[in-house]
Parts: sequence; C-alpha cells; structure tokens
Amino acid sequence: MSTEAGAPLTGPEHTVATVCPLDCPDSCSLDVRVQNGRITTIDGSHLNPVTDGYICAKVRRFGERVYGADRVLYPAIRRGPKGFGGFERASWSDALAMVAARIAEARERWGGESILPYSYGGSNGLLTQDTSDAILFRRLAASRLARTVCAAPTGAANMGLYGKMPSVTYEDFPEARLIIVWGANPPASGIHAVPYLRKAQRSGARLVVIDPRTTSLARQADIHLALRPGTDLAVALAMHRHLFESGLADEAFLAAHTKGADRLRERAAPWTFERAAFEAGVDAAAIRAVVDLYASTSPALIRCGWGQERNRNGGSASAAILALPAVAGKFGVRGGGYTMSNSASWGFARTWLTEPEPQTRVINMNQLGRALSPDTTPPVKVLFVYNSNAAATTPHQNLVLKGLEREDLFTVVFEQVMTDTAHYADVVLPATTFLEGYDLARSYGPISLRLGTPVIEPVGEARSNADVFGELTDMLGVRRESEPCGELEEMLDVIERLPDAIRSGIRERGSATPPYDGRPVQFSTVWPVTADRKADLFPAHLEAEAPAGLYVYQADPATPEYPLTLISPASERTISSTLAELPRPAVRLLMHPDDAAPRGLADGDAVRVFNALGVVRCPLQVGAWIRPGTVSLPKGLWRRHTANGFTANALAPDTLTDLGGGACFNDARVQVERDGAS
Ligand code: SF4
Repeated sequence: MSTEAGAPLTGPEHTVATVCPLDCPDSCSLDVRVQNGRITTIDGSHLNPVTDGYICAKVRRFGERVYGADRVLYPAIRRGPKGFGGFERASWSDALAMVAARIAEARERWGGESILPYSYGGSNGLLTQDTSDAILFRRLAASRLARTVCAAPTGAANMGLYGKMPSVTYEDFPEARLIIVWGANPPASGIHAVPYLRKAQRSGARLVVIDPRTTSLARQADIHLALRPGTDLAVALAMHRHLFESGLADEAFLAAHTKGADRLRERAAPWTFERAAFEAGVDAAAIRAVVDLYASTSPALIRCGWGQERNRNGGSASAAILALPAVAGKFGVRGGGYTMSNSASWGFARTWLTEPEPQTRVINMNQLGRALSPDTTPPVKVLFVYNSNAAATTPHQNLVLKGLEREDLFTVVFEQVMTDTAHYADVVLPATTFLEGYDLARSYGPISLRLGTPVIEPVGEARSNADVFGELTDMLGVRRESEPCGELEEMLDVIERLPDAIRSGIRERGSATPPYDGRPVQFSTVWPVTADRKADLFPAHLEAEAPAGLYVYQADPATPEYPLTLISPASERTISSTLAELPRPAVRLLMHPDDAAPRGLADGDAVRVFNALGVVRCPLQVGAWIRPGTVSLPKGLWRRHTANGFTANALAPDTLTDLGGGACFNDARVQVERDGAS
C-alpha cells in the first residue's frame, strides 16, 4: 500500500488497537498497523478472548474500502439525472445549508412526518446510531422508521417467550452433546462460532444442520435437514407434537417454569411428521430422527439463526424453535438451551436519549417503495439515508428505485462509499468509517462491549455521524443548551450514562466485564426477563399480532407460473451489503440439477430469473448443494453485480412476516429461463 500512486511507504509503523463494530455477532478486537498515517494491515488481536486473534477475510480487506475508488471523499450535489451519477463537489457548509433548508421547508409545508430518516446496521456501534441522529429526528417530529429488515421476527419471538433472556455463548458450545444449527451459517456470518462447534464435535457432540443448502457445515453434520424455505414452522410443530404425544415433554419443567404450553400443544396437534414432511419436502423419518435425538440427548443446544425468519411464517417459526428447549426440558445445564442474539444481555437502555419519542407515524423500512409513493399522506419529501444502502437491500427493489427517482423527493445520503442509493441522492455527504472515529461495539454472539478508537485521521473530508447530526441540530435551531456537541463529547456522554460497572470498565480498560462471566446458563444463572420469571410459550400479544394466529402455518405462495423459491443468504463476501463495492467473482444463480435439466439449462448459461415484480439477469451455477425447488442468489449484492442492474430484492415481495414486521425475502417465488428465451 502506498501514500500516493506509486510512492512507497516509509517511516515507522505502529499498531493501534480497536474493535470491529460491524453488523456481525462477534465484535473482534483488532490490531491495525499504520504507517505514515495510512492503514497497512488489519488483523485480529487477542484482547477479545473469544475472537482470539483472527478475523474474517471481509474486514481484513477493509483498507480497500477506506482508500478505494468508491470512497466518498467530499460533499457533492447532484447535477445529473437521479440514479446515473453526475455530482459536483461542494463545501460542507454549502451542502449542509442546502440540507437544512430543504428539511426546514418540508417541515413547514408538509409537517415533520414528510421527513423520513432511513438507517440500519451499516455502522452498528452504539455511537453511530440512535444518538445525535435520533435526537435530531425526534425534535423535527419526523416519521419514525421501523428498523425491521433483519432480526425483527426472531426478536419479537425471543422477547415474547423469554423477555430476551441471555443465551448460551460460544464458550459453552463444547459442553453440549447435541447442537442443532437452525437457520444459521456460521462459516459465512459469525465465524468464531465454528471452532467451538468443532471442539464440541471432537468431544463427541452430534451436529444437526437445518438449511436448504448443503453448506460446508451441513456436510459435517450427523443429520442435515434441507427444508423447503418457509416450512420451519411446520417441522418445529411436528417436533412439539411428538414430544407432547410421546411422553417426551418435560411436564415438571413446563408446570414449574412456563405458561401457555397447553395452547402450544393444541396448535402443534395437527402436525404429524407426515404432514410436516410433505410441506417441508423432506422425509418424515428424518424429522423424527432429529427430535428423538434431541429428546434423548443432554445438554442439547439449539443455535437459532435468522434464515427461518425471512418468510410469512418467520415469527411463529422462530417462536416454535425457541419453545423446543422448554418443552423438551433442555434448560438448566451448561451448554443446554438456546443461543441467539445476545445484544440485550447487558441489560441497559439508551438512557442518553432523554426525551420521549414523539408518536409520529411509523414507516416499515421493508415497505420503503410504498412509503415513497407520491400518494402517501403526507408525502415523504426528504429522505435522509445513513448507515444503510436502501436501493440494494430493501424488498420490491423496482418500487424503491421508482420512489428514489421522484424529482420532488430530496434525498440525502450520508455514506462512506458511493452506494447504489448514493447515486440517487441530491446531496451526498462523506462519512467516516469505524477506523476513523470512536464507537462502542457490542457483540451479539459472545457477550462483549469494547471501545473502538480512531486508527487514522478521517479520509478526505469525511465526518462522523455525531458531528454532522449535531451540526444539523444547530442549524435547524433544535439544539438544547449544554447538550454534547461533536463526536468526542457524545462519546463521553454515552459512556457517562452507562451503568457504573460498565462505565468504569470502559474508562479503565476500554472494555466492560461481561455479566454472568460471559457464560450464562439459562434457568440457572439467568432467567426469563418476564414479570414471573416464567417462559410464556403462548404470549397473548403474539397471538393477536400474527394474522392467522400464533403457530398457525400459512401456505407456500408458489404458483404454477412461479414455482421456484428464491433465497438470498449471507455470504463470505459482505456484511449485509457492506464491502460489496470490492471486486468479487461473477455472481451466479445457484440451481439444483433436477431443476436445471427440465429447463434445458446448463452450468454457465445466462439466465433470467423473474416474477411479476421484476427480472434479474445473471449466469447460472448448477450444483447439488441446494435442495431442488429452491434457487439462491447471495445477500448484499449491489446493482453492478448482475447483467441488468437488479438484485434478488427485485424479486422479493414487500409483504411482512407474521410477527415483528420483518422482511419476507424468502417468499420470493420465481421462474428461471435461458436469457433471450423470451
Ligand atoms: S465482521 Fe465479524 S468476524 Fe469480521 S472482523 Fe468484524 S466482528 Fe470479526
């Protein structure tokens, strides 16, 4: 790496310790080598004992994002048509003056709800979201965003059943004698779970993987159930039915520590193995083998992921999976129970947001295209996108792009690189990466909380979220006196408001001591965070929320016209869509040979993947490592990755999951044909 094209780096090199705050369960501690003010290498450090010195290939390449050709280096104002670039450099003062003027105008003419902030986990630390940004938009009485693109159905289920009780962490995986990995692929997203899974297997643990693809992990499993996507609920209910009907349910545990088991049992009653197997496209005997193994093995752990949530049944499926350890009596021992997001394990709220949220309208981020319709009342007139790439990551991509093309919509994109969304912006503002500022990284697999510190000066004219939202708060006249101003003050303010033990750890060591020694044992050292410390296996509010009722299966949306299920799982290349700007091999649609042959398709063919919502053109990969009837494109693609500039989200409906308002990416039903066939 060089300071300028061709000029070799000279001078002493030094190492800066920081932490990765990206949207990944692990929060690796990092050692970043710097020479002449530039990053030379990024590696893992041993400060975090769980991530223990190694990191993913994605973040190893993060320097290519920091210094890459796509980096946004200075503010710019659009001069060309929306979607096609054509920007002119501007000063920060001119760009922010324009943004403030358009926000003020929208607020005056159409009300605060005509302003829509749009963000997700692109910068997932505690400082870069829900701090100064939330203060600004609350004071403007802007529309509120339901941030539900991921983890909303599982979150609703986990909260409803257990109040988001802390869950088993990686260190205790080797204690389990059976691990069921359901809807997760740790080798792609959460790599530090893998050595613990291996250690468990070496110690004799059995492994079950439930995934429609034959992943590397599935190949090493004792049993692999390749379910038809969207049918996890049916399979989980068949398991419950068997536990209840065969005397395998732990009635003593259910009586002492749960409520609602009878209602769950009622809803599971129709689900014989045969019926579930028919829906899921697997053998009834295989489902029975899994539940019998589960019933007879302890400690038994279910690693509940997010794959099972991305469909019409996703909330109920997640709830039914999470209910299994209660019904089978798998809690109360180290290595037993379930593991999923541990983000709530620290048990603190964002107390730095000191004023109540105004009760303005809520717009579900998965329905951005609908919200950007000119017929919405009041219309969205200012869209402020940060920490997110809405044009690439939101379902019903065509409708989203149509909305972004509206000439009367003023779009601000505050970003690190020129994303697909930035090409639709009226104003682009350059944002710092996590290597150029402070953040507090809270992992959600292991339980850790660490302070990230600046490794290098901001590149170009990039500024932090705190600085920019703080300045806009001033310019719009909604700042309160004595509020923190700028990144450093905001960081100190947030740390000051953390609970005592956490605050002192961050101040003294840059990291907090995890509660429960970082290794909670469910129903032993931690309990459901509910009023009576019991698990509620049939929460009334979830029953009311689910359109067909909790644990009620909604049929597959396939039609004869669009018979194939399209999934878009996480890959080893990107963190959601972050880092998708980096070079990668050609993106291909994965299809089973049994689906390719009748369509006359062969490996490498150019194909059209289509439904009533859109078309994606790309090459085909034929392989038996996906179940028949299901095809796959990677999650997190940008428009540049396919021949016609659309991603899997062009084919994903903007319908919502049964619980939590989540995205139904895996309810995309499609047809595939040779490109040029029609
Ligand atoms: S993305 Fe995950 S695995 Fe990669 S460096 Fe960050 S925390 Fe570690």
